[in-house]
Amino acid sequence: MNPGFTKSGKYKDVLKTIKKTGKCPFCKENFKYHKKPTLFKKKNWFITKSSWPYKNTQYHFLIISEKHKEDFTQLNTSDFSEVSKLIKWATEKYKIKGGALALRFGSAIYTGSTVNHLHFHLIVPEINKNTKKTNTVHFAVG
Ligand SMILES: [Zn+2]
Repeated sequence: MNPGFTKSGKYKDVLKTIKKTGKCPFCKENFKYHKKPTLFKKKNWFITKSSWPYKNTQYHFLIISEKHKEDFTQLNTSDFSEVSKLIKWATEKYKIKGGALALRFGSAIYTGSTVNHLHFHLIVPEINKNTKKTNTVHFAVG
């Protein structure tokens, strides 16, 4: 985990607190720091809202592995099947018409990730009330 990469000051403070414990914030035993409820769960993956949603998002969900995995090669077809089901659940439940799915993986030097534990971002931009178009959401990598 690399608190240096994160942008929000408050998030950085929380991550520093977790880092002091030397534990992964997305592993079950440390997940108390995450204040949003688990919305839906499959065998090895679950979906929750981001505590610090990106700017201009209507929805920003995190789809998180129950097991601590950091490397893309640790994912198998059942992982993708479960993630797919969680995304389908969210798109129906929240009537999502479009958005993006993103996954950072590997070395934090390349990803700019704050948490190395693999998690997908399901990002849905908000509609601008004046223009009726979506406001752009920026997903950073590196
Ligand atoms: Zn973990």
